[in-house]
Amino acid sequence: MHHAVSSQDGNLFIESTSLSSIASQFGTPCYVYSKAAISNNFLAYQSALADKEHLICYAVKANSNIAVLQTLVELGAGFDIVSIGELERVLRAGGNPAKVVFSGVAKTASEMQRALELGIHCFNVESEAELELLNSTAASCDAIAAVSLRVNPDVDAQTHPYISTGLKENKFGIDINLAAKVYQRAAQMAHINVVGVDCHIGSQLVDIAPFVAALERLLALVDELAGLGIALQHIDIGGGLGVRYDNEQPPTPQSYMSAILPLLTDRSETLVLEPGRSITANAGVMLTQVQYLKSNGEKNFAIVDAAMNDMIRPALYQAWMDIQPISAGNSDNAVAESAVAKSAVYDVVGPVCETGDFLAKDRSLAISAGDYLCLMSAGAYGFVMSSNYNSRPRAPEVMVDGNQVYLVRRRETIEDLLSGESLLPAAVR
Ligand SMILES: *Cc1c(COP(=O)(O)O)cnc(C)c1O
Repeated sequence: MHHAVSSQDGNLFIESTSLSSIASQFGTPCYVYSKAAISNNFLAYQSALADKEHLICYAVKANSNIAVLQTLVELGAGFDIVSIGELERVLRAGGNPAKVVFSGVAKTASEMQRALELGIHCFNVESEAELELLNSTAASCDAIAAVSLRVNPDVDAQTHPYISTGLKENKFGIDINLAAKVYQRAAQMAHINVVGVDCHIGSQLVDIAPFVAALERLLALVDELAGLGIALQHIDIGGGLGVRYDNEQPPTPQSYMSAILPLLTDRSETLVLEPGRSITANAGVMLTQVQYLKSNGEKNFAIVDAAMNDMIRPALYQAWMDIQPISAGNSDNAVAESAVAKSAVYDVVGPVCETGDFLAKDRSLAISAGDYLCLMSAGAYGFVMSSNYNSRPRAPEVMVDGNQVYLVRRRETIEDLLSGESLLPAAVR
C-alpha cells in the first residue's frame, strides 16, 4: 500500500508539501489526504485485475469526501454505498450510478426508489424481507431491480470482533446454507433480476486464507445455483483487505488477487470488489497540536486539540495508530534551552470529557506544548466517523496534489453547529 507520508530530516511531507505548512495554513485538527496515494492504491487493484473482467467498487463509507470520490471516478472506479446519502455523493463527484452496488442491512423503500430511478448496478440484498420490499418497491416504480444476495459464508476473518462480519452470529447477510432457497424465490419475483452473489467477511484482514475460504464457499453456491438454472453474472467478494497501522504485514492487492484469481479461471462471471480501507487509510493523516503537557505522578499526558469526536478508532476499536511530531522541531536548537523537548512516555488525549478520549497510549515522544503531531493512517474511518460531541465543530479536509493544496471541506463553524436547532416559543404567562 502506498503510504502518503515521507520524512526529510525529521520533517514530514505529503507528496511535496510539508505538513507544517498545512498546519499553519489550515489550523488543527485537520485531515490531509494525498491524491497520488489514493490513486496508486486504486491502480494497484486495477493492474492486478488486468486480465480478469472486473468492477472495483470503492466502499464510500471509508472516506466519502467528494474530492476523494472524484479522484476515483477519474480512474474508472465503481462505488459500494450503504445509504442514499452516499449515492448522492457519488453523483456529485461525477460517478456513474451504473457502477454502484448498494449494500447494507436496512435499506428503506425510499432509498430503494431513488436507487432504482438512477439505475444502479445492483442491490446487495441481505434478507428475504428486504427482497420482498425491493420487489414490491420496484413494482410500484415499474422497474426491475438487479439483485445480488449477500450471503454469510461463516468464515472467521480473525479480526476485531466489531469489524468481523462473516460469522453466523453477525447481523450481516443470508446464511449460505439457506441461500439457494432464497435465490429460487428471487428468481420467481416479477420485478427482481438475479445477477450476482456477494459477501463481505470483515475489515482489516491481514491474512489471505479467510478470503480464499469465503470465495470457495461462494463458488460452491454458484455451481449449485447453475444446477438449479440460475446463472449469475458476477461474484462480489467484498472489501476488507487490511493495511499497515503498526507492524502488520497485510498482503498487497497484487498478492491477494494472485491467490484468488486461480479459483476463477474458466469462469466467465465478472469479479466485483468493494475495497475501502486499503484505498484511503494510508493515503491520509490527521494533524493536531499539543495544547498542554501534564503529569499525574505515574502518567504523562499530552493533551492535544483533536479528540475522539474527530477520530474515534482508538476509543471504539482499541485501534493502534502511529503518532509522530511533524517536524524535527527545536530540540536541536541549543539556544532555546528551556524549550528543548525531552523524550517521555505519553498518553495522547483530547479535550472531550470521556476517559475513552485518547488517540494513543504509552508513546515515547519528544514534544513540547505547541508542537504539531501527525496521526498516521487516518484516511479511512476517520473524518467520516467524526461527530460534534461536546459541541466541537468538525475538522477541515485538505487534499494534496503534488505541491498544490486544496481545501476540500472547510472547518465547521459554531453557526454550522447551531443551524438546524430552534428554541421553544417563549413561555406564555
Ligand atoms: C465496510 C464495507 C466494505 C469496505 O471494507 P474495508 O475493510 O474498508 O475494505 C465493503 N463492503 C461492505 C458491504 C462493507 O460493509
